[in-house]
Amino acid sequence: MTSIEQVKQKYHALSFNSLSSSLETLLTQAEANELSHLQFADLMVSHELGRREENRVQLNLKRAGFPVHKQLEEFDFMYQTTITKKQVIRLLDFTFLDNRENLVFMGPPGVGKTHLAIAIGIKTVHAGYKVLFSTALNLIESLDLAEMKGQLKKKINALAKYDLLVVDELGFLPMNKKSVYTFFQLINTLYEYRSLILTTNKDFTNWSEFFFDDTVAVPIVDRVIHHSHIFRLGGESYRLKEKIAARQPLI
Ligand code: ADP
Ligand code: MG
Repeated sequence: MTSIEQVKQKYHALSFNSLSSSLETLLTQAEANELSHLQFADLMVSHELGRREENRVQLNLKRAGFPVHKQLEEFDFMYQTTITKKQVIRLLDFTFLDNRENLVFMGPPGVGKTHLAIAIGIKTVHAGYKVLFSTALNLIESLDLAEMKGQLKKKINALAKYDLLVVDELGFLPMNKKSVYTFFQLINTLYEYRSLILTTNKDFTNWSEFFFDDTVAVPIVDRVIHHSHIFRLGGESYRLKEKIAARQPLI
């Protein structure tokens, strides 16, 4: 006589862990719905595949390293009117990734650049792509460190494994000449091969300020804006709006 426990152990031995832990529920479901053998076989395999997909997404979300969880659904397009919901939704068919195009969100502080970059990044993970989030500062620091250890190429190759790199806050601080050069090597490797989402508080015309040197700034800007969707965000800071709202009396 075969017991449920024995079957569960066999599933477990084959690493069908979700099937193993949900067997009773699935059997009850099959009986309640009078499933045929084929339908039950399909139910079991679909259940296992579904759970594996969920786990994969959770793991990739963890690996992406988003500093906070931001949803597109929470973004108020009535407040931020320099970009439309339609423009953002259109990006979610992910042809920009398949075409190796970049997204650039430019604008002053607090207008939602990071929010949109993270929210799109999260949707991208859910769509099955590999994403890595980094502030420009941390990214450049890690490239410089790799360069010092003679491992720049290895580091760049590791970064190029992601389908999408989200680089936040480019241009908050000027970079030194050496960092600009290592950054250029990354941009050059990713060019027409992988996609970037960049957020920046400076317009391209001022990029030479933080890239220190026009001779490197120009080719970097060239590669980034060639095949890219540029969104110039404006308006009042949302942070300011929240502060003002908090100070207002309730009546
Ligand atoms: P930026 O990167 O442009 O400086 P953030 O994206 O960090 O700005 O936005 C600042 C804060 O305000 C975040 O908590 C973000 O979630 C929120 N925020 C900004 N714009 C909006 C918006 N239009 N709707 C909802 N929340 C917003
Ligand atoms: Mg930001």
